[in-house]
Amino acid sequence: MKKFICLILIFILVFSFCACVPQSKEASMEAMDTYMNFKVFGSNSMYAIEEIQDEVKALEGSLSATDKKSEIFGLNNNGQAKLSGDTIELVNRSLELCDSLGGALDISVYPIVREWGFISGDYKVPSGSEIEELLTKVNYKNIKVDNNTVTLKDGMQLDLGAVAKGYAADKCLDIVGNEALKSAILNFGGTVATYGLKPDGSRWKVAITDPDNTSEYFGYLSCETAVVATSGGYERYFEKDGKTYIHIINPETGYPVDNGVKSVSVVCSEGVYADALSTALYVMGKDKAMEYFKKHRDFDFIILTDDNKMYISSGISADFTLCDGYDYEIVNIL
Ligand code: ADP
Ligand code: MG
Repeated sequence: MKKFICLILIFILVFSFCACVPQSKEASMEAMDTYMNFKVFGSNSMYAIEEIQDEVKALEGSLSATDKKSEIFGLNNNGQAKLSGDTIELVNRSLELCDSLGGALDISVYPIVREWGFISGDYKVPSGSEIEELLTKVNYKNIKVDNNTVTLKDGMQLDLGAVAKGYAADKCLDIVGNEALKSAILNFGGTVATYGLKPDGSRWKVAITDPDNTSEYFGYLSCETAVVATSGGYERYFEKDGKTYIHIINPETGYPVDNGVKSVSVVCSEGVYADALSTALYVMGKDKAMEYFKKHRDFDFIILTDDNKMYISSGISADFTLCDGYDYEIVNIL
């Protein structure tokens, strides 16, 4: 009898322990040219983590500009293609954003990105006339969409690199919601999606990379459900004759951005918007980015400039912590 009671007690103990520790699952993968890491919490963690990885692989397979089997590759090669649901949805949303961002984001910038060698890694500084010639192919207004069919004007090519990770973040947050998970942190490499609170009830902390020392973080943002996208010149760049050329291109000039911005982080609820903004505000530079913010106010930002000033919108200034050892001058933007 005693043994039986003991067994029941042990059973109750184990059961209540399992019930209060949420199940969790973690996975890492390389995709979209970066390293990704996902942590999910809740009873459906096992399924959700697989769905998330499958979703990322599927999106990469459709959106990549370099994979010969992708829809975008097909479109770029043929000048016209009928695109599937996700791809056309992202193209349409991106076109809206190219417009509202005044062309600072331009998804047709691929011929220029490639000429500078940012695709092959075979970097070079093109001549002024080469850039002039290629700029004639860059203008998102010449992308025509008719239902699911996209047509590009001669020689144009699309690059969804500035928005693809944000779109993946949106789709994967949908999975987290559909699987009724308790919480999640999904790191798409530079674009991080958080959901709910950490299992211990505290807020997620999203670290922001130090552009001058990419193995360190200069600060972190505490978040609940949000997407934080960061663009930094440090992600891909090369140096030639003492000058640094980064992978973010000003679509107006065809040259890598060189405007005193070191990194831009954007926080909002939509991944594509966060990702598009982090690239576009970088292109605009601090002053124009601030103007855009004051007109729209549907996101928050951190802009770090060369003179180590950190501009932060007031909506997140209470959520930001500067790490020890950083003496950035913090400018709060109302
Ligand atoms: P990362 O991919 O490093 O996170 P971004 O989100 O800022 O950085 O996207 C940069 C990528 O987007 C570049 O590698 C290039 O393929 C493409 N790109 C560069 N400049 C622009 C631009 N002005 N508009 C749209 N896409 C761009
Ligand atoms: Mg981006």
